Amino acid sequence: MAKKKTAAKRVSGKPGKSNKHVYFFGNGKADGNRNMKDLLGGKGAGLAEMTNAGLPVPPGFTISTEVCTIYYKENRKIPGAIDREIGEQLKKLEKAAGAALGSTKNPLLVSVRSGAKFSMPGMMDTILNLGLNDDAVEGLKAQTRNGRFAYDSYRRFIQMFGSVVLEIPKDAFEHEFEAVKKARGARLDTDLDEQALREVVDRYKKVAKNRSKRDFPQDPHEQLKMSRDAVFRSWMNARAIEYRRIYDIPDHIGTAVNVQMMVFGNTGDRSGTGVGFTRNPATGAKEFYGEFLINAQGEDVVAGIRTPQPIRELEQVMPKAYKQLREITTRLEKNYKDVQDFEFTIQDERLFMLQTRSGKRTGHAAVVIATDLVDEKLITPKDAILLVDPESLNQLLAPGFDPDEWKKLPVATRGLPASPGAASGEVVFSADRAVEWVNQGKQVILVRRETVPDDIHGMFVSQGILTATGGMTSHAAVVGRQMGKPSVVGAGALAIDEAGKQFRVEGKTVKEGDFVSFDGLSGEVKLGKVASKPSEILQVLNGTLDAKKSDIYRRFDRLLSWADKYRRLGIRANADQPDQAELAYAFGARGIGLCRTEHMFFGEGRIPIVQKMILADNEADRRKALDQLLPLQRDDFYGVFKGMHGEPVTIRTIDPPLHEFLPKREELMVEIARLEERGKKGKELDEKRHLLERVEQLHEFNPMLGHRGVRLGITYPEITEMQTRAIIEAACRLQKEGIKVVPEIMIPLVGMVKELRDQKTVVDRVAAEVMKAEGVKIKYLVGTMIEVPRGAATADQIATEAEFFSFGTNDLTQLSYGFSRDDVGKFLRIYQEKKILEKDPFASIDTEGVGALVDTGVKLGRKTRPDLKLGICGEHGGDPASIHFFDKVGLDYVSASPYRVPVARLAAAQAALSVKVGD
Ligand code: PEP
Ligand code: MG
Repeated sequence: MAKKKTAAKRVSGKPGKSNKHVYFFGNGKADGNRNMKDLLGGKGAGLAEMTNAGLPVPPGFTISTEVCTIYYKENRKIPGAIDREIGEQLKKLEKAAGAALGSTKNPLLVSVRSGAKFSMPGMMDTILNLGLNDDAVEGLKAQTRNGRFAYDSYRRFIQMFGSVVLEIPKDAFEHEFEAVKKARGARLDTDLDEQALREVVDRYKKVAKNRSKRDFPQDPHEQLKMSRDAVFRSWMNARAIEYRRIYDIPDHIGTAVNVQMMVFGNTGDRSGTGVGFTRNPATGAKEFYGEFLINAQGEDVVAGIRTPQPIRELEQVMPKAYKQLREITTRLEKNYKDVQDFEFTIQDERLFMLQTRSGKRTGHAAVVIATDLVDEKLITPKDAILLVDPESLNQLLAPGFDPDEWKKLPVATRGLPASPGAASGEVVFSADRAVEWVNQGKQVILVRRETVPDDIHGMFVSQGILTATGGMTSHAAVVGRQMGKPSVVGAGALAIDEAGKQFRVEGKTVKEGDFVSFDGLSGEVKLGKVASKPSEILQVLNGTLDAKKSDIYRRFDRLLSWADKYRRLGIRANADQPDQAELAYAFGARGIGLCRTEHMFFGEGRIPIVQKMILADNEADRRKALDQLLPLQRDDFYGVFKGMHGEPVTIRTIDPPLHEFLPKREELMVEIARLEERGKKGKELDEKRHLLERVEQLHEFNPMLGHRGVRLGITYPEITEMQTRAIIEAACRLQKEGIKVVPEIMIPLVGMVKELRDQKTVVDRVAAEVMKAEGVKIKYLVGTMIEVPRGAATADQIATEAEFFSFGTNDLTQLSYGFSRDDVGKFLRIYQEKKILEKDPFASIDTEGVGALVDTGVKLGRKTRPDLKLGICGEHGGDPASIHFFDKVGLDYVSASPYRVPVARLAAAQAALSVKVGD
């Protein structure tokens, strides 16, 4: 994520440096401000900021994230001193509110809400209406002259407290609620009168007593302590942990707890509550966006239980409050210079702001918003670069439906277009099933009445999310957008039977495993499978769509050209086919950082020749096979050079062990046994036997540490010869055509300078021969991969021979940890669960260990050869966090897969800018 460091953030410091643990806000003044997210969490910092700005915010206080850390350190207890500090702030709150906790005349009711530095929608717990008990509820009734409201608030409180704090299953309460509704013939919750709600309260208290083996706590101070601790506890619930794992949020930062005076959206038809965004978070369009519910409390909107009304309709219902809301939120957007995601409550036509924070958005919206804000002169291009999460650009490259194919199917139903993108897959009805089927290689659509935070793992693996209830800010919508998953929500026509694993729509039954497709931009849902087509951006890049006709392409291009202006790192791509090189160039790569030549050996019709080369038991035969490969490789290189339009191309000599090109031992044995069984004799059987013999000869116990990389070139120099010849001949041909190329010949897996020297001699000799024969002079470089720890440690020696280094962080990670790249999956998850590893080191560079080796390699290499060219071509080259690191250690370029080039361009700019303006 783009993060801006400001002076105030530095002053406020990180948690752990202050004796103050509780921060008050109210009456136009707050102890905190917007820059204190580390300490106050996003919600707390936003409330403080809005209070300071004089906006209508109910008073309250924030218990800092530090206290969460202390709570866990002290074995899930809060020290007395902090308790007292909370008590003092509570008194201040009572004064500001003109009400007292537990008072029978004028009771103070509060909400207790979680709020970490990074928003984690719905992952942690919240308690509303705290402070009610059998007496205070009467006080509330007398004060508001609204018994229905008082008892509705009380039943909500018992229900929430019961499920969150006392950990009683929600069903137990819902069961009672439905029973009362049924007995009274009520259709909607709002049909229940005071008397009915009193009965609900009595039933709820019985549930609480039966399940928790104690009376429902009547002392509001005890309620508060228990709720506060429950919120801290929820930081470590399974779904919050899973969410943090997905989004790379560290566990140690903890959550803050916000205790705030309640305002009520459920006092009647002149009240309501809602959430919204200052711009459309799905498309980025500049429109007021959100929804509200009349006579409801906040949780009703987000939980997706009732389908809310679009926010524009608020203008008709409560024009004054609507106008004020628009004014305030516009001001907030200007102040924060970013889209705001806000929550509000209207109590008897009076507006209160309950939250503001930067709104989560889709990749599409992120690009639209960033470019719009620049055009509106609210931010500079530099700010725009920092506003877009590089990873989210991937969403813009995801395929959409082929319009012709899409048109062939009738629309089964329509829902709200919560998150754009095309999704097609087999229907599943539970998150667990989604994971199970995806592990079997299927593509699934998760269909739920509504999603709940516990579904997060299933949502993550699905192609898309489809729900029957809930609005544009329901859980499914918010999380879907954030994940960049196509989502359609509130498709009310779906009659979903989750237990029966089917749904009905338009008289048709769709069962688990049937195909469904939907378009997250239009909200249309269709039954069946639909083929997809490349994204608009890709269509422009491959010339099938005119850039003028694609607004999103032009914005994407603008943003990335701003990024190019600020980044220091060069961006190359890993590509080994001409079309990949073309695509990478179109995406903005200026060079190839890694061309894996062995991939070319797998090309059509080549395997038999490669096998001939491997099976040869003498040099002459091997050379014959290599002679056959030469023209093919030369054409490959010619195509790749051409695709890169004269930009530098690093070509690596063969790397993997030779047995990878041969059939599997077991398969051969079976084939031979079958031939023998059928009494076959002759050439075929002899050949198979010979093949098996060679496969057995080449068998290695540890192929990753075996006969591969430079070791192959050393033992079979004729392979290096052939490859050099193909490279230089291709370059000569291009040069004759007027295209100048500078091939960079790269020797893999070098750990000793002598290995490189050996191969360099071969390369130089052959290159000289070719140039002489062709009558062309080519400038070429010889360098190496630094991917063996010994190579990094002796980089000063290696640099005497190498003209460039490219860090192979895949192998470097493998060899530093001693984790096999192919087997790590078996235990990585457990390492992460046990917090031995925070991240997968093969995806994001381990800066401490592997990174230290890179740093050593850089320093030693440059000591010998100050102009040594340095790059990285492991998978980490496309990972934003790793790119920050590579920028810091001073590499010249990163090389990523073609599709990740845009991500790398933006991340590299953010890295360069963060050196100057913040983290
Ligand atoms: C590497 O090891 O980082 C690398 C790029 O090479 P390969 O993945 O081909 O081993
Ligand atoms: Mg490697």
